[in-house]
Amino acid sequence: MKGSILVISGPSGSGKSSLMHEMMKRIDNTYFSISTTTREKRAGEVEGKDYFFIGKEQFKQDIENGNFLEWAHVHNNYYGTSLKPILRELKNGKLVIFDIDVQGHKIAQEKFGNIITSVFLTTPNQEILKERLIQRGTDTKETIERRLNNAISEMTRIKEYDYVLINGDFQKTLEALVCIARTSQYKVASINEEEFICSWTNESNVSSFNFNTI
Ligand code: 5GP
Repeated sequence: MKGSILVISGPSGSGKSSLMHEMMKRIDNTYFSISTTTREKRAGEVEGKDYFFIGKEQFKQDIENGNFLEWAHVHNNYYGTSLKPILRELKNGKLVIFDIDVQGHKIAQEKFGNIITSVFLTTPNQEILKERLIQRGTDTKETIERRLNNAISEMTRIKEYDYVLINGDFQKTLEALVCIARTSQYKVASINEEEFICSWTNESNVSSFNFNTI
């Protein structure tokens, strides 16, 4: 049994972090991929929980060492997904959750295509996104402007995703996200067909094969 991947992308301020956090409390067998970034730590963020915060030189070294499954330059900073923990957790049959941008999604698709389910999350309109970014109080005016512009260019790639969630109401959006996440754990692509059939037909093998039994 291989695991599967749930990619969640969308503008900063669309509610991704809170929704993912709540969704993970409701779904078993998940692993959140903690990205590495060169951006400054925000107030309240915790090293090794929200991100691994490193300098640009170290980030470049990690790229050279092939440590990243994918990396991207977003909002003037670098962000990357570490390869090793992902492979380990997929092998353990986990639903691996990525909070990555549209560039990262494209690369992940190229590498893991058929085991990925992807969701693009956004606000009902640009004004609401702006209000949320201002209310969050973590970014300068210039950064907010940059993030809003980036949001527009990300929106033009919505069609690359399986699902789009427009976060008008937190609870309803959460319900939808939980449904998508649960479904993503049952992709046929996550099953090793030969092993599956062999175990299914041979009673003595059943216990050694980790079925995602409902
Ligand atoms: P923030 O600075 O608001 O935490 O994240 C900015 C953007 O970077 C978000 O769109 C987020 O999804 C994206 N991001 C975070 N980690 C990664 C990563 O490892 N790879 C890529 N490609 N994007 C990431």
